[in-house]
Amino acid sequence: MRMIEIVENYPAFLARFLSLTRTCLVLMTDENYTLTFYNETFWQEMHLLQGADGMHLGSILCPLEEEELSLTVSNPEQKLVPQILRLCSTDALYRCYCCKIDDGYLIIADKAGSRDNEVLDNMSHLSNELSELSRELSKKNRDLQQANEKITQLARTDYLTGLSNRSYFQERWKEIFSLTKRHGLELSVLLADLDHFKRINDSYGHDIGDKVLQTFGSILASECRTEDLAARYGGEELIIMLPKTSASGATALYDRVRNQLLNSNILSDSDYVTVSAGIAEYKAGDTEELLLKRADDALYQAKDKGRDRCVVSA
Ligand code: GH3
Ligand code: MG
Ligand code: MG
Repeated sequence: MRMIEIVENYPAFLARFLSLTRTCLVLMTDENYTLTFYNETFWQEMHLLQGADGMHLGSILCPLEEEELSLTVSNPEQKLVPQILRLCSTDALYRCYCCKIDDGYLIIADKAGSRDNEVLDNMSHLSNELSELSRELSKKNRDLQQANEKITQLARTDYLTGLSNRSYFQERWKEIFSLTKRHGLELSVLLADLDHFKRINDSYGHDIGDKVLQTFGSILASECRTEDLAARYGGEELIIMLPKTSASGATALYDRVRNQLLNSNILSDSDYVTVSAGIAEYKAGDTEELLLKRADDALYQAKDKGRDRCVVSA
């Protein structure tokens, strides 16, 4: 809790403390330094026999050198500036803090050099250190939270394609499947596998093979909507779940991906990368596994029929 909040929340406690404190003088004056309020400590310190209302501050607190008293006024929002003044009646030195109030001045003064003041100084020093530590701790917590988010993100991502990995896909698949079933929505899944990828690796080397896979991944990602999820399902097999999408929507997506791959010109002017896909659309009686299996069977048929095409599961 910041000091200002203590003042706001516990004004009565502070007022009581200031009236009882044995070390602090609390004084208020009008614009002309005429005393309008003082606490009991002041009255005792001054050895007064009668009230001090109406006394001029200049006859109570004297500057060390100058003749005329002129208060050093601090802005409470900024660093407080102490002013050492002498209590005329006892010659004791007081560290005075003054701030401007509506119709005059508020002065809080503590005896300079007393043991109590040292304790207060130490406490204020420790409190500053504590605030500093707590600021550092908050920053470290924020850094930790960011690091955790990064770790979670990495744990869900396939390092080569930058798409989601299989385990994150499966986690989200369960969720989307259940939502689809409960609300009678549409859901399609598209399983895509590069054709003759082994030949690409063998002819051009593994590095070019990796590049083809990365290009395949980024084409798929760029064709997805935000609510779709594209993931690397196996070696050169990518999968997309398409919530609220029919099989014809998924087929249109396949066509766009196929054309982009054909035009990507990664291998050579006369050698193309083609892709086959199996598509399945949710129908009553499907389970999470069955819907995926129907897409896998459809992919198998696409390969069987000569590749470079997609087949929609019946
Ligand atoms: P098909 O048209 O029937 O799918 O033939 P294919 O050659 O693509 O299929 P096959 O399953 O015989 O070979 C897949 C190849 O994919 C073999 C494997 O070395 C390669 N592969 C798997 N993961 C990676 C990878 O991360 N990088 C590279 N460069 N190749 C990979
Ligand atoms: Mg393949
Ligand atoms: Mg394969």
